[in-house]
Amino acid sequence: MYTDLPEYLNNPLKNLLKNKGNNLKPMKKNEISILGSGLIGSLLSIYLKKRGLKVDIYEKRADNRKGKYLEEGRSINMALSDRGWKALDDLGLTEKVKPLTIPMYGRQIHDEHGKTSFIPYGKEGQAIYSISRGRFNQLLMEEAEEVGVDIHFEHKIVDVNLRDHTLTVSNPEVEKETIASEVIIGSDGAYSALRNAMLKQVRFDYKQEYISHGYKELTIPATSEGEFALDPNALHIWPRGSFMLIALPNPDKSFTCTLFLPFEGKRVCFENIRDDRDLEGVFKTYFDDAYQIMPQLKKEYFDNPTSALINIECFPWMEHKALLIGDASHAMVPFYGQGMNCGFEDCYILDKLISKFGTNAWELVFAKFQKVRKPDTDAICQLAMDNFEEMKNVVSDPKFQIRKKIEARLHELYPLDWIPLYTMVTFSDIPYSEAYAQGKLQASIMDKVMADPLITQNWNKLDYEDIIDQLDKVKAV
Ligand SMILES: Cc1cc2nc3c(=O)[nH]c(=O)nc-3n(C[C@H](O)[C@H](O)[C@H](O)COP(=O)(O)OP(=O)(O)OC[C@H]3O[C@@H](n4cnc5c(N)ncnc54)[C@H](O)[C@@H]3O)c2cc1C
Repeated sequence: MYTDLPEYLNNPLKNLLKNKGNNLKPMKKNEISILGSGLIGSLLSIYLKKRGLKVDIYEKRADNRKGKYLEEGRSINMALSDRGWKALDDLGLTEKVKPLTIPMYGRQIHDEHGKTSFIPYGKEGQAIYSISRGRFNQLLMEEAEEVGVDIHFEHKIVDVNLRDHTLTVSNPEVEKETIASEVIIGSDGAYSALRNAMLKQVRFDYKQEYISHGYKELTIPATSEGEFALDPNALHIWPRGSFMLIALPNPDKSFTCTLFLPFEGKRVCFENIRDDRDLEGVFKTYFDDAYQIMPQLKKEYFDNPTSALINIECFPWMEHKALLIGDASHAMVPFYGQGMNCGFEDCYILDKLISKFGTNAWELVFAKFQKVRKPDTDAICQLAMDNFEEMKNVVSDPKFQIRKKIEARLHELYPLDWIPLYTMVTFSDIPYSEAYAQGKLQASIMDKVMADPLITQNWNKLDYEDIIDQLDKVKAV
């Protein structure tokens, strides 16, 4: 007997007949099984199918194209940026996705008195793109089916056996079915069934952290004239220190707002908003300009779920021919708008490794993938945590805006030497870990520049060449 082969290959007859719930039916055997038809699973299935592989996806939800898309408390729209576009472009999907998006060229900051200021995200013309999660997911599933992927809706993975490479699937017709699969890919999100199976393996590292804050979705509808109530080409932020509200535009001229608050505490938090009066008090005090254009606030606030935010890091991501990808391997808090973009980049990189090593070397491909990708996903998870502080706190500080202007000027004058961290993460495909390291060096120089008490008056007269020299010196150390 070959000990490194899955059990079903060593004892095929016995195992092919071992299907639970239907003892005599031969066990189905897949080439590639993907768990979850979310954004990452759907995109990855297109990549794999285009390589001529037979791909089956198991999705626990019903087919959302047949009814109203149920968001289950997940964000309704999200920001798509360069890393995401790169994978879409690679698959020839850009022109199909673009009409679903609205460009946002910068942050529109709303202060407590309703005054606004605009901070561009990058150079002129650079934008991140608001897109509906539900509509985007539908499009990717349609594309997957069009190239021949089989999506099995209402098929929940209840167990994964890593020893004999089988999935236990429950679906409305057969209570439980066991399916063998040569390759298993877990793109089943932050609460992954494949990761649960890996957790039982020796030397599997796993860390999860819920942050103190949760979020709730709210809406700013279109005006009575059917127009956007705010500038649609910006991501709106109401930063208030320990909490914040943000809003992203939708094609129907509404905005989806996300309110981020601590779950509990002495000041403004979810626990302390118990009735309409509490809610009105918070919104009139801190978000009055938004409050005036949120007629459904009270109903939505108390009807919509309050969701938690989690950061997950684990390793290894593979066990033989089974691999974790997307949120299943690295769920991050949403403050850099990179979770999906990073997952799409995962798919792009995995595909290039398959191209290099072929479809008969899965273990090698997966080993290379996790080695190259893990430092980068660790870096973006950390950056996402750090950006939470920036978004709820410092973006409203006038010095932050000066800092951004200085960095933009440095980038304009020395485009290869100084690239603002946000630009590296959002508008480039520089590995996240390199962006993180370079960002730290730049921040150390900027902290010194900003320490000048007269910087708000003098920033225009800075010796920019000297700043670049300082950066070169710290890089050389
Ligand atoms: C509030 C918020 C805002 C965000 N904003 C952005 C943003 O602006 N930009 C960005 O890039 N990212 C953003 N993200 C992150 C982004 O949502 C995730 O990174 C992305 O959805 C991950 O996709 P995924 O396919 O890996 O997982 P998921 O989207 O979670 O999909 C997993 C799929 O697997 C299915 N599934 C789960 N368990 C099983 C099972 N046992 N059997 C079968 N099927 C199963 C689920 O039903 C689902 O369809 C945001 C996240 C949050 C919470």
